[in-house]
Amino acid sequence: MAQTRVTVIPGDGIGPDIVAATLRLLDALECDFAYDRAIAGQTALDQGLDLVPQETLDMIEKNTVALKGPITTPVGKGFRSVNVTLRKHFDLFANLRPALSIPGVRSRYDNVDILTIRENIEGIYSGEGQMVSDDGERAELRSVITRKESKRLMRFAYEAAQRLGRRKVTVVHKANIMKSTSGLFLSVARSVAEEYPNIEHEEMIVDNCAMQLAMNPHRFDVIVTTNLFGDILSDLCAGLTGGLGLAPGANIGEHRGIFEAVHGSAPDIAGKGVANPTALMLGAGMMLEYLEMNEKAERLRAAIRHVVGEGRVVTPDLGGNASTDEFTDEFTDELIKHL
Ligand code: NAD
Repeated sequence: MAQTRVTVIPGDGIGPDIVAATLRLLDALECDFAYDRAIAGQTALDQGLDLVPQETLDMIEKNTVALKGPITTPVGKGFRSVNVTLRKHFDLFANLRPALSIPGVRSRYDNVDILTIRENIEGIYSGEGQMVSDDGERAELRSVITRKESKRLMRFAYEAAQRLGRRKVTVVHKANIMKSTSGLFLSVARSVAEEYPNIEHEEMIVDNCAMQLAMNPHRFDVIVTTNLFGDILSDLCAGLTGGLGLAPGANIGEHRGIFEAVHGSAPDIAGKGVANPTALMLGAGMMLEYLEMNEKAERLRAAIRHVVGEGRVVTPDLGGNASTDEFTDEFTDELIKHL
């Protein structure tokens, strides 16, 4: 069988460190991948290339899977988000963000298991039509929701819920106020839900959802929502289960997948060698599942559950004082023990 080639984008800030750690873990799992390195964002601009160079796009197109470190996006000015660009370019319409408690990790709640499925290419987050008036007194941003994309996302979500044996799908919206966009999303959700009578369909307004998540996360199973709400709620879910250092994300389209951590480039700890690589490692686990390498995915998760749960050698965000490298040694040692 031909060797699987994976496009690797190291990213910015803590990105290169956590990507290197994740590749070490995949090697310890004997995944036998070949890696094609690609760049995007400020790193590309610094080299006089486009924000997302054509070579990077071609590589993702060809390899079909990519592992991506976080990429810095300037706040309030500067270039548009590389993440949004990649999601739109490759039509990665669904963003899966599981939040799963790891026994032993200090967190607000135990036994949380919530899968957020976020619409990934439309809505206010996709950044269409941004404009500031010449006098700087007025700013605009367009939100577009289509029936076609809402339907595709909702079908994907219900199919995933069914495949994963989930009981309930909570559709999160703001259709009381955003009657057009959120209203359309909700009405499509209702009609798709009718095709899946064995899965409980629930509807919740986003502000209430945030409160319910903080008060009683155990009442949630799968959350499906629009782009911006999903971005915010999935960070909230990550915060309930031990923080951003443990939260992976998968951007999935019909033919391509880009796997990453939910968190960003963490400029406050960049270069200190203390970033927690677990989120990206779990993202790599989602990539293994996407590639139907389920046994390796389960071994990767078991090693993470063991090392993170034990809490003996962990990074500062998890209450320890280990470096990224020392933490990664623990994972690889754990995998080698069970070879
Ligand atoms: P952030 O996620 O980078 O950091 C938030 C907090 O969490 C910081 O205190 C940081 O130190 C901590 N943190 C994050 N990841 C960690 C890890 N692996 N280990 C230990 N601690 C960790 O969010 P931010 O500071 O708001 O954003 C920084 C930059 O990242 C921005 O430019 C933003 O646009 C970008 N960003 C990129 C992505 C992505 O590429 N997918 C996602 C979110 C934010």
